[in-house]
Amino acid sequence: MKTTQQSNRQPLITVGEALGAILAKITPVETEFASLTQSLRRVLAEPITSQINMPPFANSAMDGYAVIAADTTTASGESPALLKVIDNIPAGGTASKEVRPGMAARIMTGAPMPPGANAVARFEETSEYHPAPKEGLADDEVMIYQAVSKGDNVRPAGEDIKAGQVVLTTGQCLRPQDVGILAAIGQAKVAVYRRPRVAILSTGDELVDVESPLEPGKIHNSNEYTLAALVEKYGGEAVRLGIARDTVTDLTAKIQAGLAKKVDLFLTSAGVSVGDFDMVKNVLAAEGEMQFWQVAVKPGKPLAFGMLHGRAQANVPLIGLPGNPVAAMVAFEVFARPAILKLAGHLSGDKTTLRATLDEEVTSSGRRHYMRALMHLAGDGYHVTTRGSGVQVQGSGILTSLVWANCLVVVPEEITYLPAGSSVDVWPLD
Ligand code: AMP
Ligand code: MG
Repeated sequence: MKTTQQSNRQPLITVGEALGAILAKITPVETEFASLTQSLRRVLAEPITSQINMPPFANSAMDGYAVIAADTTTASGESPALLKVIDNIPAGGTASKEVRPGMAARIMTGAPMPPGANAVARFEETSEYHPAPKEGLADDEVMIYQAVSKGDNVRPAGEDIKAGQVVLTTGQCLRPQDVGILAAIGQAKVAVYRRPRVAILSTGDELVDVESPLEPGKIHNSNEYTLAALVEKYGGEAVRLGIARDTVTDLTAKIQAGLAKKVDLFLTSAGVSVGDFDMVKNVLAAEGEMQFWQVAVKPGKPLAFGMLHGRAQANVPLIGLPGNPVAAMVAFEVFARPAILKLAGHLSGDKTTLRATLDEEVTSSGRRHYMRALMHLAGDGYHVTTRGSGVQVQGSGILTSLVWANCLVVVPEEITYLPAGSSVDVWPLD
């Protein structure tokens, strides 16, 4: 029993074509309201317009005296301006007394500017810091030793944000400072995309869970843990479906059970190659429609994609990742990550790409090659090596190579040889 010769000759499609076909089938999930404490790393589904000015009122940028700038024009150490202190305004207080010519109000940082005043002289430039040489300074008097100009040390209302101003836009992934600005403008809830639910189903008769002892011929189901962690890293909710055996019956049952859990994307690992027990393609074809199952990429050539039409749910995209743990992770980064990001409302799933200098020559197969590599910053920019000491880095079964690596070097399709010193694209993994 073999997968047909004819299907083995399916032409390889490029990474770009494969990713394009996957993304064409993906639409963002619906939105929900999240409180600010739940909003970090969520993607905004609406632009955020401030209803208020920030700061809401003109306030002092310094601890000092609110004055009329014109009263201090000639002020200096030798000839200070003598002003009458009419108020003492703390942050959080209100300023009701008007500062008229010849007057000043003691004021703390963040306190509202009193009416009439238009500048603040810092304590350091007043008799409060440098006791007056002149005798007879009354308790309610202050001397200003330096001229201030209109607006000095004052934060005008709306200096930062004007009421009506858009502060965050749709598709932005909220960072700590974004959450902070939402709080500043009094926005307690925001419309964000729901976290996409991503099913993870490992397939293989050789697999046992991490809790189980290894019997002869068995290995632990490590892919589930890697893939679930990757799903969560990119903002999805991992729906773990455990292990399916390499039979059409068990795979079909587990896929249908997964669909009953209302998932937005299905990820399987293994069983997409041309081995005797590689059933994922057959089941995908029977339970939906398969679009392709081989891509010109290394590692990860066996990669299936199609749409599932389950009893519980129709049109759920399925990405059949390779079983080899290295290939599974690389294929996830290349194909599943952009799919999850699009589901989650991100405007782009493009990976941050850096340029680095290759430390040694590299040969490639003519397929797009993602090489595990270690990048470091040197005097002339980033350098990257694809050869570890003591680690067999590019072996496809070497899981430790991914632990060693901190990036992937992207070798384009047409390239089969890169001399040492070449400038290459690098995807940071951390
Ligand atoms: P397959 O694609 O089914 O031919 O599997 C390719 C290789 O990946 C085989 O050596 C499998 O034992 C291994 N493999 C498959 N699934 C997993 C998994 N969930 N965790 C770790 N290794 C796996
Ligand atoms: Mg297998």
